Amino acid sequence: MKCLNLFILSLLLIASSHAQKLMGFTDTNATKQIDWEKQFDAQLNAHNLDTWMQFLTSHPHHVGSPQDKANAEYMANLFKQWGYQTEIVSYDVLFPTPLTRSLELLGSNPYKAKLEEATLKEDRTSGQKSEQLPSYNAYSADGDVTAQLIFVNRGTPADYEELDRMGIDVKGKIVIAKYGGSWRGIKPKVAAEHGAVGCIIYSDPADDGYVQGDVYPEGAYRPKDGVQRGSVMDMPVYPGDPLTPGVGATKDAKRLDRSEAVTIMKIPVLPISYEDALPLLQSLHGPVAPSSWRGGLPITYHVGPSTDNVHLKLKFNWDLKPLYNVIAKLSGIEFPDEWIIRGNHHDGWVNGAEDPISGMVAELEEARAIGELVKKGYKLKRTLVYCAWDGEEPSLLGSTEWSEDHQEELRKKAVLYLNTDSNSRGFIGASGSHTLEPFFNEIADAVIDPQTGVSIQERKYASTLVNADKASRTKLIGNKNIKLGALGAGSDWSGFLQHLGIASLNLGFGGEGDGGEYHSIYDSYDHYIRFGDPGFQYGVALSKTAGRVMMRMANADVLPFDVNIFYKTVNDYVTELKTLLDNTRTQTDEENNMIRDSLFDLAKDPTKTYHAPKIKDAVPFLNFSDLENEMMQMKNRTEEFQKQYGDATRLPVEKQNEMNQILYQIERSLINENGLPRRAWYKHEIYAPGYYTGYGVKTLPGIREAIEQRNWKEAQDNIEIVSKTIDQYTLQVQKAMGVMINKS
Ligand SMILES: [Zn+2]
Repeated sequence: MKCLNLFILSLLLIASSHAQKLMGFTDTNATKQIDWEKQFDAQLNAHNLDTWMQFLTSHPHHVGSPQDKANAEYMANLFKQWGYQTEIVSYDVLFPTPLTRSLELLGSNPYKAKLEEATLKEDRTSGQKSEQLPSYNAYSADGDVTAQLIFVNRGTPADYEELDRMGIDVKGKIVIAKYGGSWRGIKPKVAAEHGAVGCIIYSDPADDGYVQGDVYPEGAYRPKDGVQRGSVMDMPVYPGDPLTPGVGATKDAKRLDRSEAVTIMKIPVLPISYEDALPLLQSLHGPVAPSSWRGGLPITYHVGPSTDNVHLKLKFNWDLKPLYNVIAKLSGIEFPDEWIIRGNHHDGWVNGAEDPISGMVAELEEARAIGELVKKGYKLKRTLVYCAWDGEEPSLLGSTEWSEDHQEELRKKAVLYLNTDSNSRGFIGASGSHTLEPFFNEIADAVIDPQTGVSIQERKYASTLVNADKASRTKLIGNKNIKLGALGAGSDWSGFLQHLGIASLNLGFGGEGDGGEYHSIYDSYDHYIRFGDPGFQYGVALSKTAGRVMMRMANADVLPFDVNIFYKTVNDYVTELKTLLDNTRTQTDEENNMIRDSLFDLAKDPTKTYHAPKIKDAVPFLNFSDLENEMMQMKNRTEEFQKQYGDATRLPVEKQNEMNQILYQIERSLINENGLPRRAWYKHEIYAPGYYTGYGVKTLPGIREAIEQRNWKEAQDNIEIVSKTIDQYTLQVQKAMGVMINKS
């Protein structure tokens, strides 16, 4: 007996020495939580993801289609079965669909673009012609233009500087640009700013066609007639319904006239395949394109102009169309008014299997499993809000209108917004509010990669290290922490993070399921189960990862935000900006001297036109001292707070609650109600999509973009604005510290 007692005692000792720890949980609660997570994992079933994907992708399900509504109702029913309080929330938004699309090359070698993707017997939904949205760019202008053609590479501002130097002007011309290098809406925006009258965007085979791999149906890549649809709305100004900026697009909302909506593109824009692009590119004369501009077609790429004219004619139906957002809530018991929000969009451009259903089905399975746990006695402290957004593809319509419509409530209640979208085999990708980095890494360490059996954090570390260049590798060795990227644009977080200041996270696996199906009729179930995620193992891994985020956020004793990591990251951004300014100054001086010494003229081929760049204004010194002083305060306060954070789980419950309120509201202090220069809808002073990059994030955007645009006064003004923002943030940290010290 004695021997057995000792044995039990030693077992207990082993158990207690391995007490389980989770950020924001007491040891006892952490142990319980981890136990529930094991049961959660056991609930997840890949077969469900497969079944739901088959239904949700069975017909094209864009905004306004019968399947779009049917999918919303199908998911609403599922959520109800799983115990969620569920509603379908509808809005009426401006969503143009094509009436006329025509593109032809005139002259001696005429060509009429097909603008049609082929039905494939290997792809069962590719023949649903009458239900498919034809290939087009949503929010293009109506137009009927005839002009010469010019090739503008990716169509970014830097490409137009290069055209200038070649002596080529796009004024009055139609431009043709390759997809990639920027968000697609930037291409017609910059083209129109330079006076172009029309814009054609094509998918070059070097990017996602035969240069990358075998084309569909043999392989995953874009076939010759595959077209990338997509929105060209000027979303860096504001996303969502163009007619109702800042408010929900409800039935009785006050609407702008279409002519007043600044986010609608000014010129006609049409996306085409590389089969249709080839004759157009062959018609170009003029200089040979710079080597970095050339693509994978078997021609010599010229910049143009073409001798023959191109005729582009587009007309759209500008009706309002209904949106169907599914909103499903599972109420928390202790803090029903603290919301953990989870979203993925459900609308697709066509059948949309990878984008967005692969993420949507992972969210559904996660919601189902949590519903099962609750039936078995799992108690949620906070409320979970599961959302399936409509209209993400046109311009984040469903999420933006819902977040604008519920802004008062969200400002008070939202603790976190967790987003997913497309998902496929490979490595975890994570971006979001930097306060969430340690919390996310704890989860990445707990989820197992389905192909290798190591944690998804370990696998990400391996790929980061193997793919790092030799110079940066040394710094990365041994550091398995996954650095959260900053969020620009690209999916449904914008309304939450950048408009309302709600801490946000975006997750997804990818990197091994690449192909050329994006926004074409070939993004189908048949394509996805061969190339995206056969067996839905990464769908289940996404459910495990995102489900843990939801459950831990819902049940943490003290919310798992790390304000010191936030400080460190923002401090790196400040350093980056100072370096950017210094480098701009040095480069400007060097280049101006080279111009004065005629070096550009001496270095060029005298038989070709290649102008020297123009003399630029000298770069002044800006005064960063206010910002640096505020950063120093922030450093001290956040270090102090995070040192004590571990003890906060021992605070009396009322104190914990008081502190949690401050912690989840702290992201709101980064909001400046006046918004960013020239785009007041974007109010977050740390993260915004780039005005001239679109998807690409600009951190400290007010300062950074002013420096990039050489607007020195605006840069200095924004340094002062950000200083005040940082001060507001530090005050909140101090307030939280006060709660911690003042224990009684
Ligand atoms: Zn998507």
